Amino acid sequence: MTHVPTHAATTELWDRARRVLPGGVNSPVRSFKSVGGRPFFVDRGDGPFLVDTEGERYIDYIMSWGPHVLGHGHPVIVEALRSQLERGTSYGAPTAEEVEMAERLVRLVPGLDMVRLVNSGTEATMSALRVARAFTGRSRFLKFSGCYHGHADPFLVAAGSGVATLGLPNSPGVPEEAVRDTAVLPFNDLEAVRDLFRKEGDGFAAIFLEPVMGNAGLIAPLPGFLEGLLEICEEHGALLVFDEVMTGFRVGLGGAQERFGVVPHLTTLGKVIGAGLPVGAFGGRRDIMEQVAPLGPVYQAGTLSGNPLATAAGNAQLGWLEENDPFPGLQEVGERLVEGLVGILREAGIPASGDAHGSMFGVFFHPGPVERFEDAQEADTERFGRFHREMVKRGVFLAPSPFEAGFLSIRHSEAEIEHTLTAAREAAEVVA
Ligand SMILES: *Cc1c(COP(=O)(O)O)cnc(C)c1O
Repeated sequence: MTHVPTHAATTELWDRARRVLPGGVNSPVRSFKSVGGRPFFVDRGDGPFLVDTEGERYIDYIMSWGPHVLGHGHPVIVEALRSQLERGTSYGAPTAEEVEMAERLVRLVPGLDMVRLVNSGTEATMSALRVARAFTGRSRFLKFSGCYHGHADPFLVAAGSGVATLGLPNSPGVPEEAVRDTAVLPFNDLEAVRDLFRKEGDGFAAIFLEPVMGNAGLIAPLPGFLEGLLEICEEHGALLVFDEVMTGFRVGLGGAQERFGVVPHLTTLGKVIGAGLPVGAFGGRRDIMEQVAPLGPVYQAGTLSGNPLATAAGNAQLGWLEENDPFPGLQEVGERLVEGLVGILREAGIPASGDAHGSMFGVFFHPGPVERFEDAQEADTERFGRFHREMVKRGVFLAPSPFEAGFLSIRHSEAEIEHTLTAAREAAEVVA
């Protein structure tokens, strides 16, 4: 099952790409920088597979970093896009489809009374922060190390280490002023949050978090963590914001807030709700969302927001999910895959642990438990890089980073799981 991806055409394309695109890519993690080697170029997606420009086929566990929970090219989405295309791509005026999409989100996600559609997860989180600050009249907010909330300035803060730190930017170009009001604590450390809020809680507009971390590998909240955060927020007049850009319609139909039974004040969405087209959304309690222009004074706008192609694809995918709720089945597939992978790695003498939530899964090259990003950072990332390359050679495409979750689709069947575990057995032997 091994093929060697060193074809001349790909090498030439990679050289051309690096001349005109920084690092050869349009988003950093696609570059394979953290696992070594170089990416293949995708020609097409097909159900659970990607096919590259050389005709090689890979079982895809990235699914565009989440969006394709129905697999690549599901007929209901293709048909919805085709029929919308004939009616136009963008109008800059209201459509019935954006109302339908908003109604669907409000119906399915417990914390939503009203939503605003935007074009990306980044836009959703930066807008939610603006609304939270306006609503509370406060500036500061708390995030957790390892949680990713898009690339807007205030969120790009290095991880603190157990103490609330005054944020320092982790990217050049982010001015210190932009992150002065960003506090960072370790995930799952409720006591640290209590301490911080006991002293300075009255200055905080919000607590932002991924309710299940998916941008540091997969890290679940400990029992009581989400409940505790909600309690702290209510006590101190701050807003709890669940960034469900990744977990929304991934860990379950109603997101992590439904799965864990904790309803936040504001929610951000993206990825799955656009089915592979650029979409995000933010929403929440009615009195908070009534602050958003033109109803309220908080400005937020977008030329392409609620785009007809995006709402066509989103409505088709969300409609299918609502009718078929595939998440219990996906949970089983995820558990089987994680148990298989962790078992194979351990058998080869490689410390490993993992977890699955709905259609998301994660495996760390770390004996576990992994409860925060600081734990994940102790994983054997060099060995993961070698393992990743061996898996690609065997037609299995895992995220090219040790700190990313894996994504299943309804098209990942028993055959793909078997192929993956066979590949993992061979790969583990090579890297052991
Ligand atoms: C992907 C992601 C974002 C950013 O979304 P983009 O569409 O890439 O801007 C924000 N938050 C979380 C939790 C994400 O996973």
